[in-house]
Amino acid sequence: MSEEIRILVELSRADLECSRLSGRTESIPRELDKHEAELMVHGRALEVLELHAEDLRRDRRGFEREVESTKTRRRELELQQSRIKNNAEFQAMSHEVEDLRRRVAEIEDQALASMQEEEQVQTEIRRLQDLCAQEERRLGGVRERLNEELASYRQDLEASRQRRDGLVSQLDPQLRSRYERIRRSKGDMAVVGIVQGSCTGCGYHLPAQRVLELQRAERIIACEGCGRLLVWIGE
Ligand SMILES: [Zn+2]
Repeated sequence: MSEEIRILVELSRADLECSRLSGRTESIPRELDKHEAELMVHGRALEVLELHAEDLRRDRRGFEREVESTKTRRRELELQQSRIKNNAEFQAMSHEVEDLRRRVAEIEDQALASMQEEEQVQTEIRRLQDLCAQEERRLGGVRERLNEELASYRQDLEASRQRRDGLVSQLDPQLRSRYERIRRSKGDMAVVGIVQGSCTGCGYHLPAQRVLELQRAERIIACEGCGRLLVWIGE
C-alpha cells in the first residue's frame, strides 16, 4: 500500500470516528433534557394537586363558617320562638328553625365530603412527592453518568480531530481538497474498499482491470459509480 493510500484509509477511519463521537456529544445533552422534562411533568402534576388541595381547604373553611353562622341564626330564632305566644307564629318559626337545622346538616355533609376529598388529594400529593424525590435521586445518578460520558466523548472527539488534522496535513493539497469534496457530498466515508469486485459505497461492479490496478495500489482510483476513492484492503 502506498503511503498516500495508507493515509487516506486512516483519515477516512478518523473521520468516521469523529462523526460517531460528535453524534454522541450531541445526543447526550438531548437525552439529559428528556430526563429533566419527565421530572418536570411530575413536578407540574404535583403543583396542580397542591392548588386543588388549597381550593378544598378554602371550601371546607367556608362550610365551617357557614355551619357556625347558620347555627347562630337558629339559636337566635329558638330564643325568639320561646317568647312567642301566638300559635300560628310559633308554628311558622318552627318551620324556619327546622329548615336551618336541615341546612346545617347539609353543609356538614358537604364539609365532610370536601374533607374526604382533601384526604385523598393529600395521599396523592404524598405519593407524587415520593415519586419526585425518587426520580430526582435517579436523575442525579443519570446526570452524573451522562456528564462523565459526555466529558469523555468530548475528549476522544478532540483527540480524533487532532489525529485527522495531522493526517490531512500529510496529504498533497490537491488530494486533500478532492477528499474533502467527496466527504462533503457523500456525508459519510470518502474512501471505501471493494468486496467481490464491487464498490462498498455504492455497489458499482468494477471491471477486472480496475481491481488489478487497485490491488497493485499504483494510483488512486475513484469509483465510476459514486466518485468515492477506492482502496484495496483485501477482500
Ligand atoms: Zn462507488
